[in-house]
Amino acid sequence: MRKKIAAANWKMNCTLQEGEKLIDEILKSGIVLQEHQCSIFAVPYPYLINVQHQLTGQKNYFVAAQNCHQQKSGAYTGEVSAAMLASMQIPYCIIGHSERRMYNNETNAILAEKINLCYDNNITPIFCCGESLETRESGSQNDFVAKQITASLFHLPVEKIKTIIIAYEPIWAIGTGKTASTEQAQEMHQYIRSVLSDKYGKAVADDIPILYGGSVKPDNANELFACADVDGGLVGGASLKANDFTAIIKALPG
Ligand code: PEP
Repeated sequence: MRKKIAAANWKMNCTLQEGEKLIDEILKSGIVLQEHQCSIFAVPYPYLINVQHQLTGQKNYFVAAQNCHQQKSGAYTGEVSAAMLASMQIPYCIIGHSERRMYNNETNAILAEKINLCYDNNITPIFCCGESLETRESGSQNDFVAKQITASLFHLPVEKIKTIIIAYEPIWAIGTGKTASTEQAQEMHQYIRSVLSDKYGKAVADDIPILYGGSVKPDNANELFACADVDGGLVGGASLKANDFTAIIKALPG
């Protein structure tokens, strides 16, 4: 069975103490994740070690970074490399979140370099893709998302891409309270899987988790996660409230 994943993206939120309390409260709810389920917390760099310690011994709960730099090392003040994350045993890293594409000018080509560095360092990328409202309204969302995927991922050999996690996050749904309908989400997820299948074959595409992101909340998680090609969510705002994120984890298909 394909992995089902509830991933939290804290972005630039929470003090260390607030973050610790949040994780504590989520863990206290005592959800036992099944073999095919996992929950990932993408937290600010300074908290990675603390959260990793908090999650030690919790089955299928993992920590993630929200980004890494596209160069191996060097004179890039304030940046963090994939090798640094690997040296802390960080297993996952978000790559290509729309906020980084927008505010840090991360192009598809730069993201391909970040993806390579993740794999060189045994870090599983959570690769984000998704179109703007303008692109959706013009009806070219499929071509746009296919281009993001082909340009940043299709140089990868099958042994690597088969371990990736993809997050489809329509920009118009991120932090807006506006969620894609289940039809819109399923349609795009199925399309992404077909793009992967055309290049790498059905068996590989069928095993790649594709998460939905964009105003996932406790009251829409069940119906979104019930879509055949939606394998969980990447959650911003609602991941900052223990009760909400706990409910979202519980919505993962059993
Ligand atoms: C995100 O930033 O990845 C996200 C999906 O945010 P939100 O859930 O707040 O829309």
